[in-house]
Amino acid sequence: ATPLLDIRDLRKIYKTRRGWPIPKTALVRALDGVSFTVGRGEALGVVGESGCGKSTVARVALRLQEADGGAVQFDGTDVLAAGKTDLRTLRRRMQMVFQDPASSLDGRQRIIDALGEPLRVHGIASGAAVKPAVVRLLDEVGLPPSAVDRYPHEFSGGQRQRIGIARALALGPDLIFADEPVSALDVSVQAQILKLLETLRRERNLAFVFISHDLGVVRYFCQRVVVMYLGRVVETGPVPEIFVDPLHPYTRLLKLSSPEPDPARAVAMAFQEGEPPSPVDPPSGCHFHPRCPIAVDRCRTEAPALRELRTGRHAACHLAT
Ligand code: SF4
Ligand code: MG
Repeated sequence: ATPLLDIRDLRKIYKTRRGWPIPKTALVRALDGVSFTVGRGEALGVVGESGCGKSTVARVALRLQEADGGAVQFDGTDVLAAGKTDLRTLRRRMQMVFQDPASSLDGRQRIIDALGEPLRVHGIASGAAVKPAVVRLLDEVGLPPSAVDRYPHEFSGGQRQRIGIARALALGPDLIFADEPVSALDVSVQAQILKLLETLRRERNLAFVFISHDLGVVRYFCQRVVVMYLGRVVETGPVPEIFVDPLHPYTRLLKLSSPEPDPARAVAMAFQEGEPPSPVDPPSGCHFHPRCPIAVDRCRTEAPALRELRTGRHAACHLAT
């Protein structure tokens, strides 16, 4: 089947000025040829540390930032070439949920207005039909009808995230980019929100691009995972297999450092804190080589290609077999 979202060789380059005492212009390859697909109703995890480009993928795919190369197809529409009218439709069908729902909710707006506005603007409901439509959305995310007259600050972090999710659902999307949607929440609340997202995925056949720094969170929600490192995809595959048998050394490191009981975790954390990677002037060859425990000479000069090593499983590592 044709994927719902098809991202091919996506590129995004920023210019930044760094250095002391004389700052120099440096290029940041935030996305250095990123490709992946998402099927209808599928939850795809995009995992990596901050600076790996995972949020940039979402912003570029939603045209909140312009790409510097590559292609994005959404249900047959060329997203990067879409004009105003197509973009309006695309933005109904692709929505975003943020880590901090406050960034998408106006603190001075009551919930009825925050959720009613997109319904009115897109002609989905008007007049007296707005309130029942908002109540239905709130019910779908587990909030009572009384929430309509309240303000965002009157809710807990988990409830605010439910409101952010309801807002993303308002226009009946087919795909939601969820950028660290549970990272700011307590572990028990995280589980509830993940459960809600899973219910929505099944009941609405909704696809997700679930962006997270934590491979462990992805495990319980996603069917497939894309692991990114400094602007490149280093591994992709189905969730169970990635966890049982990660093919890329970086995925192994992420697995060890995800907050799950594991005796090797402390070692991995210390290792990870040693050299925080920066997308400015990334290492030559395989970007991961300075931190890789099995790097060989070739890794310093030659960037490994993403190769299919098992059916549906790809890794970009010279030594992975
Ligand atoms: Fe490590 Fe080399 Fe593989 Fe990169 S290509 S992950 S440095 S072994
Ligand atoms: Mg981010």
